Amino acid sequence: MVAVTRTPLTAGNWKMNLDHLQALALVQKLHWTLKDAKHEDGSVEVAIFPPFTDLRTVQTLIDADKIPFALGAQDLSAHTSGAYTGEVSGAFLAKLDCRYVIIGHSERREYHNETDEVVAAKVQAALTHGLVPVVCVGETAADLEEFGASAVPVGQLRIALAGVPADADIVVAYEPVWAIGSGQAATPEQAQDVCATLRTVVAEVVGEDAAARTRILYGGSVKSSNIAGFMREPDVDGALVGGASLVADEFAAIIRYQKHVGV
Ligand code: PEP
Repeated sequence: MVAVTRTPLTAGNWKMNLDHLQALALVQKLHWTLKDAKHEDGSVEVAIFPPFTDLRTVQTLIDADKIPFALGAQDLSAHTSGAYTGEVSGAFLAKLDCRYVIIGHSERREYHNETDEVVAAKVQAALTHGLVPVVCVGETAADLEEFGASAVPVGQLRIALAGVPADADIVVAYEPVWAIGSGQAATPEQAQDVCATLRTVVAEVVGEDAAARTRILYGGSVKSSNIAGFMREPDVDGALVGGASLVADEFAAIIRYQKHVGV
């Protein structure tokens, strides 16, 4: 595999939290916190994923104050337009300057019956509209016991990436379902093992170059106290953070992992 430097990505998935006014306050506080700490923008890419109804407000703030955060959505429709009540097109997200879109989060798979095929269609829709899909895969506790850690995420990723062109920009997030919101994170070694395996899947399905440049994130109970361990691993290129991304000081400390701990 070609050696490339991958800029770490810290992504904050707000889930269904914060209205658009609360969103403004959090983004401003996060920005000031990083500025006060003299955080070096560019050392780590920061992306935030507010609810759909907050996107326009956050886009306007980021633009007006030149805040160096990328914007993303938590889902998109597999369709471009038409009679799909309640759905949001990738075309609309692109118009709001969204760069990223989370696809296949375990909560969408579990509560909205999103199959691997739906996830694959959404990945194609994201690419059609120039969005970078953040493809989430991960095993449940029962899967872990029955099949081990890698089998389910590997199967999910193979289907999600089928047909993705070799030059596509994608992000993969390994999120063991048992670690999400549980306070029980995977160990850095567990995350490394699965992320390294997922990289071989990207190589097989999309190509070697894509595998070398694709950021593979770990997600599941990431906090400022455990982020450094994950970031020391060679195949973990960042984190997808849920609960801790809603607290400005804590998310800032996760973003600043290079400073407050020796990596
Ligand atoms: C998530 O929902 O993507 C997530 C990783 O949540 P948490 O950080 O709260 O475990």
